[in-house]
Amino acid sequence: MEKNLLEILACPICKGELLYDTNHQELICKFDRLAYPVMDGIPVMLETRARRIGEDEEN
Ligand SMILES: [Zn+2]
Repeated sequence: MEKNLLEILACPICKGELLYDTNHQELICKFDRLAYPVMDGIPVMLETRARRIGEDEEN
C-alpha cells in the first residue's frame, strides 16, 4: 500500500488517524481497537469488515 494513501485515510468511526501494520496488512485504529483489512493494497474501511483487537495485542 502506498504510504501517502495512509495520510488521507481516517477511521470511519472516530475520524482519527490510523496506523499501518505492514506485517498483518491491516490499518489499526487504536482508539476503537479495530483493525481494517487491506485487500490487494486497497484499504477496506468498513466497520463490519474490521477485526477487533484484543488488549494483549495492543502495543
Ligand atoms: Zn477509530
